[in-house]
Amino acid sequence: MPELPEVETVRRQLEAELPGRRIRGVRVLLPRTLKNITPGELEERLKGRRFASVERRGKFLLLRLDDGASLIIHLRMTGRLTVVDAAEPDGPYTRVAVALDDGRELRFHDMRTFGTWHYVGEGADSLPPGLRSMGVEPLSDAFSPDALAAICAGRRAPVKAVLLDQRRIAGIGNIYADEALFRAGIDPGRPAGSLTEEELARLHKSIRDVLTDSLAKGGTTVRDYVNGRGAPGEFQRYLDVYGRAGEPCRRCGTPIVRRKLAGRGTHACPQCQR
Ligand SMILES: [Zn+2]
Repeated sequence: MPELPEVETVRRQLEAELPGRRIRGVRVLLPRTLKNITPGELEERLKGRRFASVERRGKFLLLRLDDGASLIIHLRMTGRLTVVDAAEPDGPYTRVAVALDDGRELRFHDMRTFGTWHYVGEGADSLPPGLRSMGVEPLSDAFSPDALAAICAGRRAPVKAVLLDQRRIAGIGNIYADEALFRAGIDPGRPAGSLTEEELARLHKSIRDVLTDSLAKGGTTVRDYVNGRGAPGEFQRYLDVYGRAGEPCRRCGTPIVRRKLAGRGTHACPQCQR
């Protein structure tokens, strides 16, 4: 599933393409992609509007329109958003296409069909579930070592589960939780509340570093993530533990171990992470 670096990469590319473009029309090939509006209503609301900006919150993309409304898109497992020439044929998994005034289309492809679109009018209180309760952005100033300490304080849940909880920290998924914990030398199964001040400081730095490093490489493509231009990320070549079960730890050579934690496949070095 695309996580913060992948969604942010898409956001930056759409931000370069969409603002100022006027919407000519909408084609909805899979109506259940739309969660709170019918295809006909969506077309009616969008036609003639211009895109104003593209924002991100956690793993959600927020496409702002010039009338104050927003399209709120979650890519989930396999969603892709690309801007292509309208003459290009739809793919087998094209679900929604928004026609732009420059002869191109914003296309949403989604093989597994878990991706979601919400239309939210100006000042509306109908935000999609998950967005209302979203936690702190880990690359923002608000995410300080003290903020991480407050998030972990007193919690018996595994620190990995706390990192994955979107209500506490936004945008971290399975890949970057495992990678951040490896960099910090912390076992993913440790109760979050048991981390020392020094460990919390290391984890805070590791979270920011791994997200920043991945962003610089255009995100991670494990299965099918592609960016707004249809190209894969490069950070998969730099992963230390995720997807490397049985392979030697890059620091100590001990085989990386995969186990189930918080319901997710979890990768760690039994030697380097305590
Ligand atoms: Zn190791």
